[in-house]
Amino acid sequence: ELTGADARAWLLAFADRVVADADELTELDRQAGDGDFGWNIGSALKRARANLDGDDPAAVFQSGSDTFLASGGTSGPLFGLWFGRLGAGPSASWSVPDLAGAFETATGAVRRLGKAEVGHKTMVDAMVPATHALATTGSSHWREALREAAVAARAGAESTSGMVAHRGRASYLGERAREVLDPGAVSIAWFFEAADGI
Ligand code: ADP
Ligand code: MG
Ligand code: MG
Repeated sequence: ELTGADARAWLLAFADRVVADADELTELDRQAGDGDFGWNIGSALKRARANLDGDDPAAVFQSGSDTFLASGGTSGPLFGLWFGRLGAGPSASWSVPDLAGAFETATGAVRRLGKAEVGHKTMVDAMVPATHALATTGSSHWREALREAAVAARAGAESTSGMVAHRGRASYLGERAREVLDPGAVSIAWFFEAADGI
């Protein structure tokens, strides 16, 4: 089962990836938005790094939520809500069905707040397939289930190149941003990929 220590290591690995490669996210947001996404998510995760604690995954994700709610951009409240809803998961170590249920709840909340569905070229394009992979995996091991989620999230993120955005600043650019990957979706792929190797 996924323990609080595993969840902490996972979020720290995600923070390290985002801080190391923030420029890549910023460049995507520069091409399809206002260029602040790497900064928005990077500064939130830097602050989260110092504040992560808790005995179970829910408590750890909850402790990561607040710094996002306080951070800038459209992504701040959406990530804050996502981690906050993960924080409403079971207060014990998580089985694969616990993981699937928590991500189902969290992804549903982001879809509702952002009024975003698959195909709108947002972070939801990576969240939904990853959540689906967790719900349908045949594996009872969280490492394997999260590897499957990461593959699904990556494919979802890649699919945003070729989409015209229906939400966020990229929607103002329409066709001109079609080939650009959505930085929010890329960051969700990085999140699930960060679980590999913890
Ligand atoms: P801003 O446009 O306010 O600068 P950020 O740069 O912080 O926003 O975040 C941009 C990311 O937020 C996008 O890449 C996209 O994934 C996500 N996003 C934007 N609008 C929405 C929405 N309505 N629903 C879901 N995700 C969204
Ligand atoms: Mg931006
Ligand atoms: Mg902005």
